Amino acid sequence: MTITLQSLAQDRWVTPAEGLVEIASAIDGRVVARASSAGLDFAAIVRHAREVGGPALRKLSFHRRADMLKALGAYLGERKETLYALAADTGANRRDNAVDIDGGLVTLAAYASRGRRELPDTSFIVEGEVEQLGKRGSFVGQHLLSPLHGVAVHINAFNFPCWGLLEKLAPAMLAGVPVIAKPATATAYVAEALVKLIHESGLLPAGALQLICGGTGDLLDHLTGQDVIAFTGSIETSEKLHAHPNVARHAIRFVAERDSLNAALLGSDATPADPEFDLFVREVVREMTAKAGQKCTAIRRVLVPRAQQTAVIAALKDKLAEVRLGDPRKDDKAMGPLVSRDQREAVRAAIATLQTEAEIVSGDPERCEGDGIDTTKGAYMAPILLRARDPMSARRVHDTEAFGPVATVLAYDDIDQAIELVRRGEGSLVASLFTYDNVVAEQIALGIAPWHGRLLIVDRDCAAESTGHGTPLPALLHGGPGRAGGGEELGGMRSVHHYMQRTAIQASPRRLAALTGTWSRGAPSPAATVHPFKRNYDELAIGDSIETASRPITLDDIEHFAHFTGDTFYAHMDEAAAKANPFFPGRVAHGYLILAFAAGLFVDPAPGPLLANYGLDNLRFLKPVSPDDTIKVKLTVKQKSSARRPEYGEVRWDVEVVNQYDEPVARYDLLTMSARPPA
Ligand code: NAP
Repeated sequence: MTITLQSLAQDRWVTPAEGLVEIASAIDGRVVARASSAGLDFAAIVRHAREVGGPALRKLSFHRRADMLKALGAYLGERKETLYALAADTGANRRDNAVDIDGGLVTLAAYASRGRRELPDTSFIVEGEVEQLGKRGSFVGQHLLSPLHGVAVHINAFNFPCWGLLEKLAPAMLAGVPVIAKPATATAYVAEALVKLIHESGLLPAGALQLICGGTGDLLDHLTGQDVIAFTGSIETSEKLHAHPNVARHAIRFVAERDSLNAALLGSDATPADPEFDLFVREVVREMTAKAGQKCTAIRRVLVPRAQQTAVIAALKDKLAEVRLGDPRKDDKAMGPLVSRDQREAVRAAIATLQTEAEIVSGDPERCEGDGIDTTKGAYMAPILLRARDPMSARRVHDTEAFGPVATVLAYDDIDQAIELVRRGEGSLVASLFTYDNVVAEQIALGIAPWHGRLLIVDRDCAAESTGHGTPLPALLHGGPGRAGGGEELGGMRSVHHYMQRTAIQASPRRLAALTGTWSRGAPSPAATVHPFKRNYDELAIGDSIETASRPITLDDIEHFAHFTGDTFYAHMDEAAAKANPFFPGRVAHGYLILAFAAGLFVDPAPGPLLANYGLDNLRFLKPVSPDDTIKVKLTVKQKSSARRPEYGEVRWDVEVVNQYDEPVARYDLLTMSARPPA
């Protein structure tokens, strides 16, 4: 059945009536959908995102938005089979779809959990430490990240209709910025089905997500400096969009992920007898054939020591000969077709370009076979392996992306040459290196790192757990310099920051503490009349503090602590040896003794709202404490953040331990859980 794709504009599904473009199945050329964005009012779409979606999202804290993403992931997880069923026509088999569909859900879940764990329960982020800007400490600075008041326009490539949409949606939603998603037309029927599920869930606020199936019309004309474009696709489209006069005029943020001629290198130490050799061959074949090679991270350039070239090609040919082509609906292990016959023509043209300096050693771009498939109607293609005739003079192999099951072997004579060849790709998303030699690993890794966003070093020790060359991970950066677009997606909170503005705030410590909800030295810290450990979470105010009584530290204390704990390090036990140490005037107290005594000074022993101490941050011992020095502690409420459970909240305390001259000897943040009164 042919479906007419709808766009989601201003929270209404709009069916186009004209300008329809047919989308054919990759399997047999049957028309599966029609798409057009004719008639959409792009100005109204942008306005809706700004005026409805943005304010609704910004009303929620990071934690509420993270909870929303978590619920959305669970909702979609229960309904993902609908997407699997549709996606077969894109040519993807079940394993390919797991990467796209389950990979997208994993990314959503990862951002939900990071948002809960790493972001505060507010709608802005305090970044880094307070900078003291004046000598007396009355003028300080601090960086703050707050959500842009615009819209995130996500223009996606055809190869990952679900993952591509979700991996961009999650960070934008977490930041509090509404999204207008524009999937590639070739696979837009999968993205449309995904957005229909999201819309049906009712989990996102109105205006938070809109969808454009078809062209972008005059969308870019309506953007301003509060908006972000995150583009994934070819270098040509990226150049065109980036050069749009309105994008340049408003300095609109443009995050680009585009062509990448990723390399895999076999280290000069590896021979066919080494496990790294087999791991290399397996990875190259996997990357050539997963998603029929239509992955931005796929291995395109296969660099091998000249002495191993024949053996590598033979091993690759053997493995490629085992690759079966098959209908992805019926066979979830066989390699499916390319996304369309047009795409197959584009790949054939790219192979012809590569053939000007390389010869095909495996496969025929014009012929392939497989059980029960129609290679004239479906966009099937055999994997094609080429070998560069003269790698050092080759040019096209470093700038021609055959976006299909295609890779070229390049032989290198030494490590410097290998590095030079990799760099000729002018920037890639990822490179992988297979070696068991530290020197080879160091030389190559440091030689090519500036040209890459991710670098995978595989050996026999990590192979079993390695997530592979082609897998972007939510925790790690996805993006690369130069040809790869210069973008940085994923990478934990880095991608959330794309949708936020960093502002340096300069003010007095008092003003800054009131603004950020974070106490810093110099801000008021009124002495509490009641011990703050007796106050519940809600009663505690930022800046509440106590100063303890003083306590001397004697030599007996130090010796007792040393024998009790077993820490008889010479700096605590041997006067002459301690004196000879450049840091100590003689025997000194243990740092841990200072911490233990500090706790003894500031705790309130009776049961109360303070439930537990769960750690210390930023601990520094600033000055040695000698026998017969005295210490006292100043404890101040630095920050409060709500926890996952409503019964308690997290309190961060600033702790400063000073000696009898009021000189700080230790500073740290103490982290506690404090009870909240029942609601
Ligand atoms: P593409 O042809 O450049 O299209 C990318 C997106 O741009 C599609 O949504 C396309 O929509 C849209 N587009 C094209 N012309 C446009 C215009 N004038 N105005 C606004 N939007 C426009 O790329 P593709 O064929 O979909 O994807 C393959 C390429 O993407 C490869 O080069 C691959 O390396 C790259 N890629 C990179 C990454 C990465 O993370 N670095 C990931 C995946 C793919 P229509 O489909 O409607 O034309």
